[in-house]
Amino acid sequence: MATVSYRNVSKHFAAGSVALRNFNLEINDGEFVVLVGPSGCGKSTALRVLAGLEEITEGDILINGRVVNQWTPQQRNIAMVFQNYALYPHMNVRSNLEFPLKMLHTPKEHIAQKVAEIAQMLNLTDQLQRKPNQLSGGQRQRVAMGRALVRNPSVFLLDEPLSNLDAKQRAQIRAEIATLQKDLGKTTLYVTHDQVEAMTLGNRVAVLDAGRLHQIGTPAELYAHPRSTFVARFIGSPGMNIVSTHLQSGENNHWQIEIGGQYLNLQPETIPHHFHLGKRRIYIGFRPESITTKPVGNSFLCQVKVEATEFLGHETLVHFSFLGDKSVTPLIARMPGQFSTGEGKMDFFISIDDLHLFDEKGTAIDRENFPGNVTQSSIMNLL
Ligand code: ATP
Repeated sequence: MATVSYRNVSKHFAAGSVALRNFNLEINDGEFVVLVGPSGCGKSTALRVLAGLEEITEGDILINGRVVNQWTPQQRNIAMVFQNYALYPHMNVRSNLEFPLKMLHTPKEHIAQKVAEIAQMLNLTDQLQRKPNQLSGGQRQRVAMGRALVRNPSVFLLDEPLSNLDAKQRAQIRAEIATLQKDLGKTTLYVTHDQVEAMTLGNRVAVLDAGRLHQIGTPAELYAHPRSTFVARFIGSPGMNIVSTHLQSGENNHWQIEIGGQYLNLQPETIPHHFHLGKRRIYIGFRPESITTKPVGNSFLCQVKVEATEFLGHETLVHFSFLGDKSVTPLIARMPGQFSTGEGKMDFFISIDDLHLFDEKGTAIDRENFPGNVTQSSIMNLL
C-alpha cells in the first residue's frame, strides 16, 4: 500500500525539450488516478520519473511520505505495464509470470502458488503453456499485467495498455482493469490519451497539456466544471463546443454576450470586477448534449445550418454552424436516435443553465452567479 506525491517536479531533457513543468499531484493510498492529455504532453515521463527510469530535474517525488529521488527502481517497488506488452517471446506464459519472482529469489512453492493465483485472477489458467505469439492481444496484455502484479508492487503504473487492442478487446480489458484495481486496492497511475478511458477508469482524472497539470478532479467534476477551455474541449465525447464572442455593456446596467445571432443579458454582479472595462473577448461553452430541437426549461433559440450528420445507431452527431455566423467554428449537437435535417436550416435550443463562460485566456469564470441570472433579449436581425 502506498501514497505518491509529485512536488513541483520538472523534467528537462538534454535535447532542450521540457516534459514536466512544476508538476504537482497527490495520489491517495489505493486510489486509481488517470493522467490524460494529447501526444507529447508529458504523461509517459510522469510515469517514468515515478518508476525511477528517468531522473527529475527539479522537485521531489515521495512514496509513503519519503523522498525517493535517489532511490533505484528496485527500491521503489513499482510495477509498470507498457502498451507493447514487453513479454519475453521465447518463454511461455508460466515462465513470463514466474520471472520477476525468480529474480527476487522467491522460494519455489511460493512461486507456484502466486502464479496460480494471478493466472486465475486474470483468466489465464488455460494459457500457461502457450508462448506470447500464440495469444490474442488482450491475453498478452493480461500476461503483462500479471507479470507486473505477481511480485506485489506498492504502486501499479500502466502506460497506454490498451492502445494495441481492437475496440471490442479494449472495452473488455478496460472493464477487467477496473475490477482488478478495485479488488486489489493498489495505488494506480494510468496514462492514456483517450478521454473515454480516463473518464470510465479513474477515481480522479488529471488533465495535462505541455507538461502542465491543467486540472484534477473526479470525472463528474471535470465534465461539469472544466476550469479551462482546454479541459472543456478535451473531456466529453465529443468535447464541449467553444464559441469566441464578446462581453459588452448593454441596456439597464446589464452585460450582454452575443451568441448564435442574439444577445444574452447578464446581471452586473455576474461579472467579476476586473471585467468592468468595456468590451472584452470571452468564450462561451456548451456541450453537444445541451442542445435540443424543442425548448426545454431555460433555453434560448438559435437558427442553425446543418453541415453534416453522423448516425451512430442510438444517436446522431449533428455538425452545424450558426446561421449568419461567418466564423468557421465547428459545432456539434448530440441528438437521440436517427436525426433527419430536412432543408439543412433549422431551430436549435441551447440550455442556458448548461452554458459555461471563459475569459480571454480560456480560464473559467466563476459560475457562482452564472448562469442563473441570464435572460434572453430579443432575437437580433442578424439572420
Ligand atoms: P505520447 O502520448 O505521444 O506517448 P506523452 O504525453 O507520453 O506522449 P512524453 O513521452 O512524456 O509525452 O514526452 C513529453 C515531451 O518530452 C515530448 O516533447 C517529448 O518529445 C519529450 N521527450 C520525451 N522523452 C525524451 C527524451 N528521452 N529526450 C528528449 N526529449 C524527450
